[in-house]
Amino acid sequence: MEAQILDGKAIAKQLKEEIATEVESFKAEHGYAPGIAVVLAGADPASQTYAKQILKSFDNAGMTSQLIAMDADTTKETLQAKIIALNEDPMVSGIIVQMPLPAHLAQSMVTDVLSPDKDVDGIHPVNAGRLMLGLEAFVPATPAGGMEILHRAGVQLKGKRAVVVGRSAILGKPMAMLLLAEHATVTICHSRTVDLGSVIREGDVLAACVGKAHMITGDMIKPGAVVIDFGINYIGDKMVGDVDFEQAKEVASAITPVPGGTGPVTNAMLLKNTLMAAKRLAVRAK
Ligand code: NDP
Repeated sequence: MEAQILDGKAIAKQLKEEIATEVESFKAEHGYAPGIAVVLAGADPASQTYAKQILKSFDNAGMTSQLIAMDADTTKETLQAKIIALNEDPMVSGIIVQMPLPAHLAQSMVTDVLSPDKDVDGIHPVNAGRLMLGLEAFVPATPAGGMEILHRAGVQLKGKRAVVVGRSAILGKPMAMLLLAEHATVTICHSRTVDLGSVIREGDVLAACVGKAHMITGDMIKPGAVVIDFGINYIGDKMVGDVDFEQAKEVASAITPVPGGTGPVTNAMLLKNTLMAAKRLAVRAK
């Protein structure tokens, strides 16, 4: 039997409608809209495209957005001064600093000054720590979106074996923490994992967070597993995931396609995080 296709586009559409309704209520109550500031240092084309997509999605949701474009040779001091000003701006609910930064700027230069209360991308150690401790936190949008897909598909996680392949701070690790928080038994794999196939085959739920085209083949997947594929890779000009979709859909019970799976939901979760930040900041301002 072929796997159920977990349609990220449809989930994102639904989420965005829900968020837009909540944004209207927020505006009616507070007299202003939640807003995002996207800081872009340098002219990395992929970052520019992504930044534009973010701004458009915020506009569509009835929120405000601003792009702060800085030169590639921006100094640490200038970047930090801008972030501090955004921290203090009551009309800015969330701040995203686009990665990768120019080589002379480290991510820690951002998180040293970024307010954890406006860290809607979940990159601040305070938010990572809060997630680790099981406290309310801003969770990076991509793994948060993966969980949203699992929830909306009605996947039961309690007691299930979950395998996360990849351990980055922005994706693999938070995904593992989120699955653990819902009582899955979680294994994290990485580039030094021995006999990856046999570990993946234990997973009732598989989260692929690697960035290597089709590295997970059908024979590595447990029959009936739910597969969440975060990978964004290209074979020629065709976007593909980390999982060989054609093979996996014959084995899995449900699977996210690439494109059209986790990607669209990531964007929606950024809107959701920013709305949440605005609500929290509004409560504190009272
Ligand atoms: P990173 O490169 O930061 O992390 C990749 C991880 O994969 C590392 O932990 C690495 O292990 C592990 N890995 C590499 N090779 C292997 C291997 N052969 N076997 C097992 N594990 C391996 O990537 P990101 O976490 O930032 O992104 C992962 C993928 O997700 C990318 O394709 C990216 O484009 C995509 N992505 C998708 C998003 C979406 O919206 N859907 C958003 C963000 C990212 P080690 O730690 O040992 O090096």
